[in-house]
Amino acid sequence: MESDNDRIGSKEPMKILEYSVECPVCGPKILVEEYLYEMPLVGKVLIASGTCSVCGYKFSDVRLAEPKGPRRIIYRVEKPGDENAIVIRASTASIKIPELGIEITPGIAARGYITTVEGIILDVFEKTEFLCSSGDAPRDKCLEKIRELEEARDVKKPYTIVLEDPDGVSAILSPKARIEPLNK
Ligand SMILES: [Zn+2]
Repeated sequence: MESDNDRIGSKEPMKILEYSVECPVCGPKILVEEYLYEMPLVGKVLIASGTCSVCGYKFSDVRLAEPKGPRRIIYRVEKPGDENAIVIRASTASIKIPELGIEITPGIAARGYITTVEGIILDVFEKTEFLCSSGDAPRDKCLEKIRELEEARDVKKPYTIVLEDPDGVSAILSPKARIEPLNK
């Protein structure tokens, strides 16, 4: 959290709330602490985190303090450097990358986090490598997918990040990001 904070250049966070949520693994309640950050370009952001004292499951979420209404954020990665845009992905948001056939939908135990576009690609890359090394997926498909993801990671081909958030509490921090209303 500290390095993210430094990178974004936010002011001192302020603890504003403490509450409990169910652990999706073992049931007992997790004590969650929520902090308010003031981020340049984006404004007030709420970051919540907690760890289950029984199984160690980590709960986290991040969202804009002032919801923007259901919206879709479209961001094109066209040249090296574009992948460094910061993404605030709330637990309610889904991410699609049509060119790569990627769709990340929020599950029951979805976490919200702050990352970069590159961070999203690297995350998918790791999961794909893991899946492929387990031998469950056909080898030729795996190799093709990994090659596509390597190209995306190195920005050799343009691609589009589509972030859909019915709560309007997610953001991509770039003047290039386009915003559309989301029709549910
Ligand atoms: Zn637990």
